[in-house]
Amino acid sequence: MEIPTPLMAISDPLFDRYRVKVWVKRDDLNHPHIQGNKWHKLKFNLDAAKLQRKTTLLTFGGAYSNHIAATAYAAKEAGLKSIGLIRGEELAASPHTWSHTLKQAVDNGMALEFLTRQVYRLRDDPDFLLDLQQRYPDAYLLPEGGSNELAIQGFESLMTEIEQQCPQWDTLFTPVGTGATFAGLVRYALARANRKINGVAVLKQADYLLPSIRKWIGIPPAVAWQMLTDYHAGGYGKITPELQQLKQRFEAQFSIPLDPVYSIKMVAAFYDQLQRGEIPPHSKVILLHTGGLQGNALQQGTDSTTL
Ligand SMILES: *Cc1c(COP(=O)(O)O)cnc(C)c1O
Repeated sequence: MEIPTPLMAISDPLFDRYRVKVWVKRDDLNHPHIQGNKWHKLKFNLDAAKLQRKTTLLTFGGAYSNHIAATAYAAKEAGLKSIGLIRGEELAASPHTWSHTLKQAVDNGMALEFLTRQVYRLRDDPDFLLDLQQRYPDAYLLPEGGSNELAIQGFESLMTEIEQQCPQWDTLFTPVGTGATFAGLVRYALARANRKINGVAVLKQADYLLPSIRKWIGIPPAVAWQMLTDYHAGGYGKITPELQQLKQRFEAQFSIPLDPVYSIKMVAAFYDQLQRGEIPPHSKVILLHTGGLQGNALQQGTDSTTL
């Protein structure tokens, strides 16, 4: 594990033309299996599970969920069992169609149960969760994406690293799935004039996330923030030929691998905002690489609409 993860300066004539400086915070390098933001989201939850003497982590996700992959590995590493409640009951009968993510989770000891879409929708319903806790009294329940208060607190250390590595930053881009990572960064960023954190939603019509993001930020934040909702490219897990091209170009130019679900859309949003003049001259921009590289094994044309 490499902590602090590197803050890499990247340069391009385009950045000079707009007179901005750009860094990539390589949080994808923090852990080979519990990568990027998932490591921050899980660490205090793992402590809590152990403190409560739970023997099992139980959580929710879609077939391509980085959180499912990370939870399976984290449980194994901590000597805990893990259970994944997966969206899509049709998968139960066809293990040969399972994603790399699901196969990997099973290899790491996760027991999978498949829920119908109807039941999956109940994943945050208090009665449903109470039932589940009674069925699995030894399980520590983690919401979809691992997004809860302890997850948010896991981003304080990341923000501290960023403040130490680049105290003069003023613009930060991060991808948004549930928005917990975004909220954590906003909560822990230090006050400074003209600072703004941009969350780039990777799913369609993401405005519904705003109430939980506000709740997770909690205190009135010291920095400005906004969620950009026009960069989802058709929805969660969807990628266009233009994005595919940008991904290849960026990876070749800077030798930084991107994932197809989150970081590519964050990078695309940055380029577009820059070229629209939304990023003032002399800005010092940080692009947060949240990991997710296991998702590069994602097959094309899949129906993945769940985090
Ligand atoms: C899960 C994930 C996200 C989304 O994080 P949220 O806290 O749910 O917004 C972003 N990037 C990567 C690589 C992820 O795996």
